[in-house]
Order: sequence, then C-alpha cells, then structure tokens
Amino acid sequence: MSAMHLGFIGLGRMGGPMAGRLLEAGYSLTVFDTNEAAVRPLADRGATVASSPAEVASQASTVLMCLPMPSVVQAVALGENGIIAGERVERVIDLSTTGPAVATTVAKGLAERGVTLVDAPVSGGVRGARSGKLAVMISCPKNTLQIVEPILKVFGRTFFTGEKPGLAQVVKLANNLLAATALVVSSEALAMGVKAGVDPKIMVEIINASSGRNSATEDKFPRAILPRTFDFGFTTGLSYKDVRLCVDEAESMGVPMVVGAAVRQMLAVTQAKFGPDSDFTSIAKVVEEWAGVEIKG
Ligand code: NAD
Repeated sequence: MSAMHLGFIGLGRMGGPMAGRLLEAGYSLTVFDTNEAAVRPLADRGATVASSPAEVASQASTVLMCLPMPSVVQAVALGENGIIAGERVERVIDLSTTGPAVATTVAKGLAERGVTLVDAPVSGGVRGARSGKLAVMISCPKNTLQIVEPILKVFGRTFFTGEKPGLAQVVKLANNLLAATALVVSSEALAMGVKAGVDPKIMVEIINASSGRNSATEDKFPRAILPRTFDFGFTTGLSYKDVRLCVDEAESMGVPMVVGAAVRQMLAVTQAKFGPDSDFTSIAKVVEEWAGVEIKG
C-alpha cells in the first residue's frame, strides 16, 4: 500500500477526530480499537478495520496511536500481537501522553526490530483535535521528521523538541501540570469570591481582563463550570495520570515540585470522589464542597 495509507490505533475522544481529519486530508486508514463503538464511525467513512495492532502494522508502514495509559501504550507497541509483530511497519507515531520513561522503553523495544518511534504528544483538547488546532510536540530522528511532519501538520502546529525519545513528553507533562494547577487554584480563588458575595461570572470576566487570567478562567470556567455542565472533554483519570507522571519524573531528576505535589493530591481526591471517568473540571466541585459554595453563573 502507498505512503498515503496509515494505521491508527486508539479512536477515543482525541484519536477519533484526529483519524477523521486524516481521512479528510486524503489518507486511507487501517484502524483498531478494543471498543467497537469507537471504530464504527471511522469504518462508516471507509477505514479498514483490523483485529489487532499487529494486523494494523502489517498493512501500513506508518502507524499512529492515541491511547489512554502508559501501560496500554507499551502493551500495544511491544506486547503479544502488538505493533512490533507487524510485517510492514517502519515507524510508530505515539500521540498519547505517556511520560518520558515509557517513551524511552518503547523506542528501545521498537528499535530492536528496526522500527523508529516518533514521540508526538498533543495539546488542545477535543476541540483542537476536531478543528486541526492542536499543538503537536515532536521528538524523533531528523530524517524521520521529514517523513512524518506532513501527517502531523493535519492535526495542528508542529514543534520539534529534539531527537532524544521522551523530550516531547517532558514538555507535554509540564504543560498539563500547568493546566491542572490553573484549574485548582482558580477554583480556590472563585470559591472565595462567591463566598464573599461576588457574582462568579463577573469575577471570571474581571480576571480575564486582568493579570490573573489563565487557561481555566478563559476556557474551562465559562464553558464547563459556570454552566454546571462539567463536560470539558478530559477525564480526571487522565489528568491525574499526567500530573503523577510529571511530579514523579521531576523528583527523579532532582527537581522538587511542592505546588505540583499539592495539585496531584487534589486530583487524587477528585478521582476518589467522582471516579476516573469524571470530567477533570470536577476539581471545582471538591473545592466548592469544602468552601460550602457553588461557582455558578
Ligand atoms: P479516551 O479514553 O477517550 O480514548 C482512548 C481510546 O483507546 C479508547 O477508544 C479505548 O477504547 C482505546 N483503547 C484502550 N485500550 C486499548 C488497547 N489495548 N488497544 C486498542 N485501543 C485501546 O482517551 P483520550 O481522551 O482520547 O486520550 C488519549 C490520549 O491522549 C491520552 O494519553 C491522553 O492523556 C491524551 N490527551 C488527551 C486530551 C484530551 O483532552 N482528551 C488532550 C491531549 C492529550
């Protein structure tokens, strides 16, 4: 099959719309997901459905994956019936957030079979995935970059971080730590305002015109917290995974993260209370309960 034929594994909230954009851009796809409901919309649009990661990697020389947890990424890449068992695969583009340790392990395992890992975590949420406005952070050998960049540009703006596997993951973890921190501390600030008697909608408007503005006040509060929909599109389980990976990685490098550790605990509490599948904007509900207020407007 041609270079315009790609494999795609993991068709969830992010992977589904990204695979859809590749079809729109003229690529053909062989896809796999353990959830049949996730596969159906792509199959309806002409994608070939495979029964294992190995089968995907026998049909395409470039295989993309967008999977939830680092352990899943490692199993899909290197496990039994994994991508590594495919006959055609030459490079694997990992769009998931796995952390640098798993990226390094997967790169090493794939390299033993002559397959190159392209570490390519993304930021910008489900909206960005749909509209092709993601930030795509890339680490891979420079000669591979030339081959994969046209594919990754379909998802948004690309940024090359270097050749070493895992470098892009470090940047992605740092970004997600900041996004979760903004959400936690903005919830605390808004809870204080509401308790004092300020209308939270006005308070968010003021902050967004002032020096306290951030990704939570500009996006998450207006869209998912003030209207009480809690449907931003990123789960508590995934955010907790990212912040855990970030703080562990930083500490192993000798970089203390005092604030990061507190944010990690806030996510642990949110997950214990609302479950891993809850939207991560549920963090605000934990703060609300402690403060005895509702940030609604
Ligand atoms: P998701 O849970 O919606 O999708 C994951 C998909 O992988 C599901 O369809 C699931 O069925 C499938 N899957 C699970 N195990 C599998 C296996 N063994 N083989 C094949 N398929 C399997 O998750 P998501 O929100 O799309 O996130 C995917 C990745 O992207 C995560 O690493 C996440 O951290 C990252 N990410 C998410 C967002 C976001 O806003 N949702 C933004 C940036 C990055």
